[in-house]
Amino acid sequence: MKAIEETSKSDLLHRLSDLEAEVRYQEFAEQPGEEFSYNPGRIPVLLSAPHGTVHTRLDKPKQEDEYTSGFVRLIAELADTHVIFALYRSQTDPNWYPDTPYKQALREVVEREAIRFVLDIHGVAEHRKFGIALGTLHGKSCPKHRKNIVRHLEKFGFSQKADEILRRLDLDRAFTAEGIEGQETITRYIWESLVVPAAQFELHPSLRIVERRPEATEPQPFQGVPELIEVTINAFTSLINELAVSSP
Ligand SMILES: [Zn+2]
Repeated sequence: MKAIEETSKSDLLHRLSDLEAEVRYQEFAEQPGEEFSYNPGRIPVLLSAPHGTVHTRLDKPKQEDEYTSGFVRLIAELADTHVIFALYRSQTDPNWYPDTPYKQALREVVEREAIRFVLDIHGVAEHRKFGIALGTLHGKSCPKHRKNIVRHLEKFGFSQKADEILRRLDLDRAFTAEGIEGQETITRYIWESLVVPAAQFELHPSLRIVERRPEATEPQPFQGVPELIEVTINAFTSLINELAVSSP
């Protein structure tokens, strides 16, 4: 029994690595419109990973949020949701500028598929003192869901009071999704312009990076914690199911 469990666990991480391996951190797309990709699902929830590749903010390249494109693709597969993710290096930053092609695609999917919730997934640097940071514009972007999301993450061992840094949930402190002067975050855009509830999730590298790829911007090798990556995958997969049935 134990052997079977271990096999299925590593299958999850293999699948995550396979999906991430198709993402081109450093290369620009040959055709315009190919820098991000959309896959449909049956559940009216939309996952987003705008920073899965190197992107461009104020004329400067910003490094990829590794494994976030692979992560949302995997969750979408497991939970049968819609997903939009960065596939090639971007000339812009959809979590900064208004009116980007990525945001236009989000709007189209949200309206056409009557999406009930948008989860925007990002990654933070290793020095951050939390496992997951939930950003909801201090509750404004998903007033009816915020408490349930927190309670749900607690069931999977992520809480504001956790002693272990990687189990710590930061709630609207380090990353509120409000952005700074001149920034329009995806969470803000979805809530304020499309009036659909949304939240931003920032993940620590240990919760998402199976193994740093050779093309990654960060040069030194890195491996996340396999058990924690699995817990994170399971937490988000079942969170989708909860969001799908909750009232909008
Ligand atoms: Zn990001």
